[in-house]
Amino acid sequence: MNIAIIGAGLAGLTLARRLSDSHSITVFEKARGPGGRMSTRRATPFAFDHGAQYFTAETEAFRTFLEPFLKAGTVAAWPDTIHLEGDAKVSGKAKFAATPGMNGICKSLANGLDVRAGCKIEALERGAEGWRLQAASGDTYGPFDWVISTAPAPQTEALFPERFGGMERLSRVEMQGCFALMLGFDAPLELAWSALKSGLPPVGWIAINSSKPGRPDPFSVLVQSSNAWAEQHLEDDPEAVKVMLLKAASDLAGIDLSAASHQVLHRWRYAATATALGEPFLMDREIHLAACGDWCLGSKVEAAFLSADALADAI
Ligand SMILES: Cc1cc2nc3c(=O)[nH]c(=O)nc-3n(C[C@H](O)[C@H](O)[C@H](O)COP(=O)(O)OP(=O)(O)OC[C@H]3O[C@@H](n4cnc5c(N)ncnc54)[C@H](O)[C@@H]3O)c2cc1C
Repeated sequence: MNIAIIGAGLAGLTLARRLSDSHSITVFEKARGPGGRMSTRRATPFAFDHGAQYFTAETEAFRTFLEPFLKAGTVAAWPDTIHLEGDAKVSGKAKFAATPGMNGICKSLANGLDVRAGCKIEALERGAEGWRLQAASGDTYGPFDWVISTAPAPQTEALFPERFGGMERLSRVEMQGCFALMLGFDAPLELAWSALKSGLPPVGWIAINSSKPGRPDPFSVLVQSSNAWAEQHLEDDPEAVKVMLLKAASDLAGIDLSAASHQVLHRWRYAATATALGEPFLMDREIHLAACGDWCLGSKVEAAFLSADALADAI
């Protein structure tokens, strides 16, 4: 079958890899490269994982999937401990990061696949021959026998037709935003930890990005807002958000972070799942549309993998 997959994050690429032996797969990705929310922003001489920070592997299936990446050094353990502030909690499970950037796994999965980067899909149309995809550039692609969206739930909902069998369940999924503040320094700072999780909004997390394995880049820090705080400030002036986060993070870290020579704020509109679907994927066998992603099962890298793996089995 000719299958179109929307999204080159972990879910889209896991699916593409699993299906590409027996089907013809085209992956459409609106960003410049693969990774999705496991992405890495380069701003020479700095590099920032401004999405997922680390991941755990609680299931046998995900551990098996990670094995070759661990052997190849594309995934490594990080960090041993996380400093906690307020009522923040972390699981005691082993934590991993991809190298040399968080997008390392997705880049490796994308190798040899037909991934059309920089291609935002804006509409789907079904004709006698199958699905045609309309891109923002004006180009159309297809026909495809199946279209699978791995975009965050609200974006999949906007793309799919009303008659999609899973529409009502899809519309019940809720996602929340997050602000990521990328800070690059000319000289290292003295911090007693490599990562801090905060239960004191607006800050949700601070990490020394350059302390992650396989990153020879100069000293860099990544500050994330809490999701609940981001939801209340999504439309605020970005400069005001940056100032607030910088001040609160400096107070938490006990050091003036405004000395950073590189300061860039990124807004994630859909970062984390507040209400998950509660089933591994959505599939309409009549009109040949399906959807998967972290939001089906939770909010984590492992959930994205498990959702895509289950949909690949079903396809
Ligand atoms: C700030 C932040 C921090 C996080 N921290 C952690 C963490 O510490 N640990 C953890 O396990 N998880 C974390 N996560 C969550 C983790 O990143 C996600 O669970 C996982 O990456 C989701 O993968 P996915 O493939 O389901 O979705 P995505 O990675 O979102 O992939 C979907 C892709 O679809 C593309 N797309 C969307 N619409 C279109 C369109 N119309 N046309 C073409 N392409 C489209 C997007 O550009 C994207 O690349 C974090 C996420 C964020 C944002």
